[in-house]
Amino acid sequence: MEIDVNVIEKMVRKAVAEVTAESAPKACCAAPEKQGNYGIFETMNDAIEASAAAQKKLLFSKMEERQKYCDAIRAAVLDKQNMEMISMLSVEETGIGRYEHKLIKNRLAAVKTPGTEDLITEAITGDHGLTLIEYCPFGVIGAITPTTNPTETIICNSISMIAGGNTVVFSPHPRATKVSHLLVNILNKALEAAGAPANLITTVREPSIENTNIMCEHPKVRMLVATGGPAIVRKVMSTGKKAIGAGAGNPPVVVDETADIEKAAKDIVDGCSFDNNVPCIAEKEVFAVDSITDYLIHCMKQNGAYEITDRDLIERLDALVTNEKGKPKVEFVGKSAKYILDKLGITVGDDIRVIIMETKKDHHLVTEEMMMPILPIVRCRDVDEAIDEAYIAEHGNRHTAMMHSKNVDKLTRMAKLLETTIFVKNNPSYAGIGVGGEGHTTFTIAGPTGEGLTSARSFCRKRRCVLSDALHIR
Ligand code: NAD
Repeated sequence: MEIDVNVIEKMVRKAVAEVTAESAPKACCAAPEKQGNYGIFETMNDAIEASAAAQKKLLFSKMEERQKYCDAIRAAVLDKQNMEMISMLSVEETGIGRYEHKLIKNRLAAVKTPGTEDLITEAITGDHGLTLIEYCPFGVIGAITPTTNPTETIICNSISMIAGGNTVVFSPHPRATKVSHLLVNILNKALEAAGAPANLITTVREPSIENTNIMCEHPKVRMLVATGGPAIVRKVMSTGKKAIGAGAGNPPVVVDETADIEKAAKDIVDGCSFDNNVPCIAEKEVFAVDSITDYLIHCMKQNGAYEITDRDLIERLDALVTNEKGKPKVEFVGKSAKYILDKLGITVGDDIRVIIMETKKDHHLVTEEMMMPILPIVRCRDVDEAIDEAYIAEHGNRHTAMMHSKNVDKLTRMAKLLETTIFVKNNPSYAGIGVGGEGHTTFTIAGPTGEGLTSARSFCRKRRCVLSDALHIR
C-alpha cells in the first residue's frame, strides 16, 4: 500500500487542532443542541443531558431515517482522508498497533456492523388477534471504550446503538482522547449533514475514571456497555443498571496431528501478529501435540516467526515486557516483534512478525494476556492433554479459542469444554469477527453478560404490543 505519511500527519495535526479549538468552552449561553461542538462537552453531565435530549428526538424518527444515520456513519469512516487520519492518530496517540491493520479494522467496523436490519420483529397471531414483540431502545447508553481498539469500538457501538434507537455517550480511555474526539467530531458532522438530531454521539472533553463514575451513576443513563479489562466490566455490572460487559480474553490455540500443519502455522502467525496482537480475540498461546510440534515451529519460522530457544533469553524477554504486578508493561502493549526484539538486543527484518518460544504450560507468558506478538508454545502428549491445558490457560473467560484439527470429535470436545463466545476452526482468529469467516463484525464481544458478538438488538429492550381480536387474517 502506498502511504504518504507526511501528508497524513499534516492532516491529522490540522484536524486535531480544529477539534481542540472547537471544543473550547463557549462563553455565551447557546441552546443545548448548539453546545458541545459536534459532540464534545465540557462536563459529563452536559454530555448526558444533550444525549437525553437527542434521544427523545431519535425516538420519534422513522426506521428509514435511523438507517440513513447509520449509513452516514459508514460513509464518514470510509472517506479516505478520515480513515487515514483516525488510523494514524490511533497508533500515534496510544502507541499501540499497526497503521495498516487499523485501516483494515476501521473499514471492517464501518462495513460489517449490522444496522436496522438486525431488529427483526416477532409476530404471534391467533383467534385473539395480533401480538408483536419488537426491539426498542433503552435510551441513553454509556459506553466505555478501550485503548486497544479506540476508533473501531466507537464506530461499531455508534452504528449498533443508533440503529436500535439509542443515543450514546462515550467515555474513552484517557490515553485515546484525541483520536476519540476527532472521530466523534467527524461522525457528528456527517450525522448533521444527513439531517440527524444533534448529539446522537457525545463525549467529555477530559475522559477520566471520575467522569466514567459520573456516567455510571447518572439516572438518565439507562444502559452501560464496557469494552475493556476485568475492572471496568466488574464496575458496570455492579451498578444495578442494565450492563453489557465485553471483557478480557487469553485465547489459546490447539494444534493436533490431524491438522494441515503448514496452513495452521501460517494462520497462527497471521492471527497472532494482526495489529501487533492487541485484539482480544488474537492467538495468545499454543498447545501442540508433541508429534507435530517440531514441524509446526519449522513452518511458523517460514512464515515470519522468530524463535528464541535460550532459556535465559526467554526469562529476560518476560522480565523486559512485564511490570512489577505481573501485567504487561504499557510501553510494550501492541508493539511489533521487531521493536521488542530490538530492546532485547536482537536485530531482525520487517518480515519478522511474531516471537515464539517453547515454554512450560504454567509459564507467565502462557497464563497472562500480554497483548503483544509473543507466542509461547507448549508441547503436549496428545490432543486431549492439549485441550485440557487450553481450558486452564483460558481462565474461564469463555472469550475466544482456536483449534487446528480435522478430527470432528476433538473439535467438538474443545468447543464444549471451553464454552468460548468465539471458537474458530482451522483459520486465523479474525475469521471469528467476519474476516474470512461468515457473519457480522463487532469490536464489543460480550462474553461475561452473554450477548456474544453484539449488534443493534443487543442494545434493545424487547417490548410486546398487543392488538386483540383483529388483524388475524388466516
Ligand atoms: P482497560 O480495562 O485498561 O480500559 C478499558 C476502559 O475502561 C478504558 O476506557 C478505561 O479508562 C476504563 N477503565 C478501566 N478501569 C476502570 C475503572 N476502575 N473505573 C473506571 N474506568 C475504568 O483496558 P484496555 O487496556 O484499554 O483494553 C484492553 C483490554 O480490553 C484487554 O483485556 C482486552 O482483552 C479487553 N478487550 C475486550 C474486548 C471485547 O470485545 N471483549 C474488546 C477490546 C478489548
